[in-house]
Amino acid sequence: MDTYIAKVNYNNPEVNDEVFVKAASIIQNGGLVAFPTETVYGLGANALDPIAVKKIYKAKGRPSDNPLIVHISEKDELYGLVDCVSEKAKKLINFFWPGPITMIFKKKDLIPMETSGGLSTVAIRFPKNKTARYFIKKCGTPIAAPSANSSGKPSPTRASHVKFDLNSKIDMIIDGGHSEFGLESTIIDVSGNIPCLLRPGSITKAMIEDVIGKIEVDKAVFGKLDVDERPKAPGMKYTHYSPCANVIIIRGNAENVIKKINYMTEKNSDKNMKIGVIATKQTKSMYICENIIVIGDRNNPNEIAANLFDVLRKCDYLEIEEVYIEAFDENDVGMAIMNRLKKAAGYNIIDV
Ligand code: AMP
Ligand code: MG
Repeated sequence: MDTYIAKVNYNNPEVNDEVFVKAASIIQNGGLVAFPTETVYGLGANALDPIAVKKIYKAKGRPSDNPLIVHISEKDELYGLVDCVSEKAKKLINFFWPGPITMIFKKKDLIPMETSGGLSTVAIRFPKNKTARYFIKKCGTPIAAPSANSSGKPSPTRASHVKFDLNSKIDMIIDGGHSEFGLESTIIDVSGNIPCLLRPGSITKAMIEDVIGKIEVDKAVFGKLDVDERPKAPGMKYTHYSPCANVIIIRGNAENVIKKINYMTEKNSDKNMKIGVIATKQTKSMYICENIIVIGDRNNPNEIAANLFDVLRKCDYLEIEEVYIEAFDENDVGMAIMNRLKKAAGYNIIDV
């Protein structure tokens, strides 16, 4: 049976109250509801119900050791779910919540091990998106929600992406339009003495350091780990964000990048392979490729971030087999963009 999709007015969710009454009843009965947030769409279940939470892993095909983020609708709900909130964590909460940053704390026993992926810590997020908060509040329970995609695929930034991956596997999708930021939340571990960035996002390292001073960055953020190394966020070890196409990043000065991409396009077109190029507004007219997808303005990293997953999904839609993309600067939001892009490319980067 097709999954039920309900459109809502994302600025005024209360006008669609009946949609949220239905969604809350699904959650209270142990079902799954996908909902919009300012980062990406989440696949929600009652975070305190281990049987409901297990359904999330099954629908996504997600490994059971990859913990879920627990979403709350009021700041103070945090204190009922976790132990030991440090002074630095409190500063981050006051400054950035509600917003696209997830924090890792020591968990209380009421959070089931199914939700925390077997860990003694739990990830908590207080989203800014009005629809997300109206939904969580209506459910009357914290909501465990990873991104609402099939495991390994690009995260969903539109209800249509969720439908494509999970139709008939989940009970309902709340359609609240396009996600504002388009990259998953920043994750920072505040359960130890020194806060550590586990996943970069639109709240950047520099923005965090402005509030609490120097933080550590987990090595997994920058690239592939050695076989005997483990990332601190279990999810960072899995392949991610990959379209079916083989993604190759070309890095260097603009002129060399364009030359290399055109050379590779010409060379591989002979092989009867469908080639694509992900270009920026500044470079789109310089490629010889027939399939050019524009990701946005090179000088506007927030636009690139918001479009990244949509563009990767377009590659599948166009049945592209190999796609070349220009690298971006790794400063600020660029750190998050390149983190996702490197994973989508399986760390396949050509320096020119
Ligand atoms: P997703 O919601 O699909 O973006 O995935 C959640 C991310 O948060 C994954 O990379 C998880 O590994 C990470 N995560 C969730 N809980 C924890 C935790 N307790 N400690 C470290 N990382 C976590
Ligand atoms: Mg995910």
